[in-house]
Amino acid sequence: MSENYRAPIVVVVGHVDVGKTLLLDKIRNTMVAYREPGMITQHIGLSYLPWPIIEKYAAPVIERYRLKGKVWVKGFLMVDTPGHAAFSNLRRRGGSVADLAILVIDLTRGFEEQTYESLILLKSRNIPFVVAANKVDRIYGWKPIPNASILDSYNAQDEETQGRLEEALANIIMDFNKQGFEAERFDRITDFSRQVPIVPTSAVTGEGIPDLLVLMAGLTQRLVKDRLRLVGGPGKGVVMEVKEEKGLGTTMDVVLYDGVMRKGDTIVAMGLNGPVVTRIRMMVMPKPLDEMRDPEDKYMHINEVEAAAGVKVIADGLDDVVPGSSVYVVQGDPKPYIDEVVKDAASVKIETDQIGVVAKADTLGTLEAMVLYLRSQGIPVRKADIGPVTRRDIIDASVVRRKNPLYGVVLAFNVKVPKEVEEEAKVQLVTIFQNNILYRLVEEFTKWFNEEKSRLIESELSKYVRPGKIAIIPGYVFRRSDPAIVGVEVLGGLIKPGYRLVKANGKEVGVIMQIQDKGKPIQVAKKGMSVAISIEGNVIVGRHIKEGDVLYVNVPLEHAVKLIMQYKDHLSSDEVEVLEEFMKLRSTWKAQAQ
Ligand code: GDP
Repeated sequence: MSENYRAPIVVVVGHVDVGKTLLLDKIRNTMVAYREPGMITQHIGLSYLPWPIIEKYAAPVIERYRLKGKVWVKGFLMVDTPGHAAFSNLRRRGGSVADLAILVIDLTRGFEEQTYESLILLKSRNIPFVVAANKVDRIYGWKPIPNASILDSYNAQDEETQGRLEEALANIIMDFNKQGFEAERFDRITDFSRQVPIVPTSAVTGEGIPDLLVLMAGLTQRLVKDRLRLVGGPGKGVVMEVKEEKGLGTTMDVVLYDGVMRKGDTIVAMGLNGPVVTRIRMMVMPKPLDEMRDPEDKYMHINEVEAAAGVKVIADGLDDVVPGSSVYVVQGDPKPYIDEVVKDAASVKIETDQIGVVAKADTLGTLEAMVLYLRSQGIPVRKADIGPVTRRDIIDASVVRRKNPLYGVVLAFNVKVPKEVEEEAKVQLVTIFQNNILYRLVEEFTKWFNEEKSRLIESELSKYVRPGKIAIIPGYVFRRSDPAIVGVEVLGGLIKPGYRLVKANGKEVGVIMQIQDKGKPIQVAKKGMSVAISIEGNVIVGRHIKEGDVLYVNVPLEHAVKLIMQYKDHLSSDEVEVLEEFMKLRSTWKAQAQ
């Protein structure tokens, strides 16, 4: 049965520092200890873990689940670089080249920013995943049993320690629920097509890793079988990375997920400036570790490679190729292949005349992930493109800025901003945000957005007379008239110099000339403050107003309407209360006047 199926490509994702790298290393190194010569083959960017080794390593788990002889998965191709960038570039239109993912969560910390980001990506690309709830050895009181099945380890812990693990798991399960996923400890799962399995692991002690690997095999057989059936024919892959290599020139690392790729084949991939059609001059893969004598001579030349595989391709014109692009071996007319890579790139790039941010990223994969994340955060995108920030981007952002200053910005993810572009941005008053971590980039923008919005609203609000209610404090009449100076307590809302004051019955009192707090003039007094005010107008304390009187700011009708209709959410609750009270009083003045 297994001959027509390839090994699933597995990617490891999760927040920074949860243990992704260490977990991958631990899996690889442990496997090396169990291997027989020639069994672990190293690919470019991928490590192949053959099932027979896992079978030895995870024997107790396989026995527990009576899986011996039932597993047809040949092994796993683990993507060596964990994290978002690699995962993002393993794209395929409408999906991913990765067949399965391990989402690593720090058991002691639960969900973190990039956990959410990972989930958005996994969901959008429809990739089944298992959760490694890592660092189980950090649970207080944990007594490790190196490389054991987590169920044996769990049973060996005392009740309190078990309880602490259950509590940490319950938190993670709850976080999954909030995100619309049903999750459960792997051995308590009732329906694998619906529930996300969680395996407690430790990348330090190796506990839980056998369970994780067996679970991955089970999930592959159940959920991704169809994807692994090899169609054959000309090679289809994705560009993971483009880089300069000593002695080889510009090289392109390709993950081949179907078909065959041969030296001399014509291939097509997407470049920064359009499709690139070229011929494979050379292909290399790493030499087996035991044959590598000189680190300078780490590659072996190959003439042909079959999916699934990671291979380094050398050809002319690769400098321009964009990681995350599809790559096809051309058979016959190249036109349909060219159309396909162009269509694929166009499905990621955005060019509209809507109000929204300008998004730039270094690869097709990271750009796609970025747009997805921005949308999940409710941030509109006007334009999304690959490559460094350009003057055109600044012009585009400045056009938006004139219509809505809050979205006239450039978000640069993992790309450079040339000096002259930075200068242009200053001239155009366009803010550029730059970061290599997506959630930080968006966080910085969101923070700026909120501050800027408050500032804009504050400056809008300053055009209106705001509601206020004050009481003249008995015993604090400093001057009876010309101008009257009294001590007042602000009961609600605020007062400013220039505001007109009225009594509850609508009688005009006068205009606030100055407000003083502890002898110093101030521009605003808010609820709870006691200040001295001078009142302009022919007002005499004792005749027109008296100690204990309650006075209101006379908010002009059109201001009051605007404040309630447009800015209610931006006023304090006491301001809204005073304004509503004032409007009620105001309506009685009208009634009296009639
Ligand atoms: P990554 O950023 O997700 O790749 O995380 P790393 O693999 O670099 O690990 C981050 C830190 O956590 C390192 O100091 C590791 O030694 C530590 N760490 C990773 N996994 C475990 C684990 O299972 N147990 C403990 N105690 N520490 C771990």
